[in-house]
Formats: sequence, structure tokens, C-alpha cells
Amino acid sequence: MAFRTLDDVDVKSKRVLLRVDLNVPVTDGKVTDATRIERVKPTINELSRKGAKVILLAHFGRPKGKVVAEFSLKQIVPTVEKVLGKTVGFAEDCIGEKAKAAVDAMKDGDVVLLENTRFHEGEEKNDPAFVKALAENGDIYVNDAFSAAHRAHASTEGLAHLLPAYAGRSMQMELEALEKGLGHPAHPVVAIVGGAKVSTKIDLLNNLIEKVDALIIGGGMANTFLAAEGLSVGKSLCEHDLGETARAIMTKAKTENCSIILPVDAIVAESFEANSPNHRYGIDSIPADGMILDIGENSVERINAAIDDAATIVWNGPLGAFELHPFDAGTVAVAKRVAARTKQKKLVSIAGGGDTVSALHHAGVASDFTYISTAGGAFLEWMEGKPLPGILALEK
Ligand code: AMP
Repeated sequence: MAFRTLDDVDVKSKRVLLRVDLNVPVTDGKVTDATRIERVKPTINELSRKGAKVILLAHFGRPKGKVVAEFSLKQIVPTVEKVLGKTVGFAEDCIGEKAKAAVDAMKDGDVVLLENTRFHEGEEKNDPAFVKALAENGDIYVNDAFSAAHRAHASTEGLAHLLPAYAGRSMQMELEALEKGLGHPAHPVVAIVGGAKVSTKIDLLNNLIEKVDALIIGGGMANTFLAAEGLSVGKSLCEHDLGETARAIMTKAKTENCSIILPVDAIVAESFEANSPNHRYGIDSIPADGMILDIGENSVERINAAIDDAATIVWNGPLGAFELHPFDAGTVAVAKRVAARTKQKKLVSIAGGGDTVSALHHAGVASDFTYISTAGGAFLEWMEGKPLPGILALEK
């Protein structure tokens, strides 16, 4: 996919409407994790350095088209200033007189944040009148919010049709990484999919099967596949009503020449609790009163062998209940192997999704992966093979 980037435009003295993701976690008015702000810092600084007037557009929370004080972006300003190391102006509305006054007062290189776009109903409706009102304060539009690209909203999609549109650096990095993951990847490509349930990942599994050479299934969702093959999974989390779906996925995998790798052993506990008494069992002898909370060491060995054969890995979902010690062991061991192979330059590794990112941080290897996407919904929709409206609108 070809899209315009900041290399294709002269931004000097231009009013740049820059869509960013500032939907950061806040407790008692304090930002508790500034990762999303760090991610857009290079784009903001580059535009400012090149003499653009940098006008930040973002949503925050779900105010549903109304002004709700608790969702004001004003509380984020001090953290944005700290991360950027520069003064950031603020306008109490993203359209109309207040926005215009703030933008008109800007000098080249200045940064101003406009109030929450979702304070207006037109944002989520992608209402043409609202898009036009936003566009009045900009000469060009830059989208640096991959995490919001699965939504066709005014500030994530609509603006790209009214103004010359470009991908910001963080968006560019994400798109280039994803292209290496599933767009034009080096084969063999191996996908690792875990997490709680099959029901939330049916589209994802069906899409991956068409694209990858092997699909490793772990976590609670593996139980549904094992049960569909006639194995007993005891009291484990299992969607027994999805047996048909699981069998259809396995049949489709055969026709697509994608091998499916399921656990061959499991760590079975008494209850869903940290340090619950547990034992390892072969997958065909899970006790009726036990609960599978992690993959066993033979499964790890089998998965690691597949990783050693792979040139590309895409990963979503933990392989066990990684939040509960010691049921993090399988996920941690596999994460370390992917990280080691990536460091040896044998592997391109792309991972994403909220729990996956936490699990990789927990394993202490997140920075060793080729790319970790912090976008939740947009990353999943990408893995499902769905076109993302915010990206389509940036295509050349
Ligand atoms: P997801 O959001 O679908 O990726 O699911 C992530 C959740 O799956 C995590 O909270 C894990 O604790 C949970 N999970 C992974 N493996 C298991 C398992 N064997 N039994 C129950 N929950 C699991």
C-alpha cells in the first residue's frame, strides 16, 4: 500500500491538523501512562522544527457528543508539555470561534491542542458539516493515530477527503511494520493466537489461516479446539457450543495448507487463582475436576521449534493465564524465544493487543520484538484482514 508521508510535503508556515491518540489512562487528573504521547512525539517535534503550526486533534473517553468536564483534554496538557519539552497551547473547543482564535494566534513552530473532538456529535457520525468546521483551521491534515484508524470518524477519516492528507511518523512506522507482518512477509509466517475465547477471534483465525504457514493456538481458546477434537478439558474455560466453528477452522486450514499447532500438554490447576495447586498432564488425560491454565513444557518445545523455522511471527493473545503466577511460564518462555530469534536477526516479530503487550512487558522482552502495536481494536481489525477506513483515506 502506498501512502503519503511527511517526506512528500513542505509544512513551513502551514496550519497542520495533526490527529493523534491522546486517549491515555488518567487517575485523579494525573496521566498514569504516557506511552501514547511518547509515540506521537517524533511527528509533533518534526512538524514544529520544520516551522509548521501544529494543531493537535484527539478524542478522549466516550463523552457521546456532549461537553463532559471529566473528558476534557485540558488535564492532559501538562503531561504533553513534559513529554515534548515545550509549551502547548489549548483551545476550549475544536471548532468555531475559540479554535479559530487559538490557531490565528499561533506562530510557526507552535503547538496547540484543541478540545476533545467527541464533545461534538459530528465526530463519530463523520458529519460533513463538522468535518468542514474542523478543516477551516487547517491547510493540511496529518494522521498519526493508527489506533483510531478502524473508525471512520470526522477527525480520523473525513478530514482526509477535504485536505491534502499524510501519514505521520508513528502511523508510518506502524503501517510499515504491519506490511512486514502480513502484507508482504518473509515466509514461513507463523501466527501465535491465544487469549480467552474463540468467539472474539473467529474472523481473525479465518483470515490468518489464509495468510500464514502455521497457526499456533494457545490460551483458553485452545480448549475449545481440543474439545472439538473430542478431548476432555475438565473444568477449563471452553466454549463447547463453538465445536462446529472450531472444526470448520481446522478443515479450512487443511485446504489452505496452514498447519495448526495445538497444545500437547497443559498445566492443570484446581482453581483460577495465583499459586493454585497444579500439575502437568498430557492433553489426552486432563482430569475432570481440573482447569487448564497454561501450556506445558512439551507444548513450549513444539512451539519453539516452529518459531525456529519461522521468518515472520505475528502474535496476539497470551498462551495461558499469564496474570496469575506461575501460569505465566508458557507465555514467558515462548516470548523469550521469539525475542532471542529476533535479536539474532532470524525473525521479524510483530505483536499487538492490550493483554499481549502486558504479557510481553511482563516477560521483559517487549523492546526486543521488531514491532509492538499498542493499538487494540485497530490492530485486531488489521489481523482480521479488514480494511481500516483511516488508512484507506491516506492511500495515494
Ligand atoms: P484476550 O483478551 O482474548 O486476548 O484474552 C486474554 C485473557 O485470556 C487473559 O486475561 C488470560 O488470563 C486469559 N487466558 C489465557 N489462557 C487462559 C486459560 N487457559 N484459561 C483461562 N483464561 C485464560
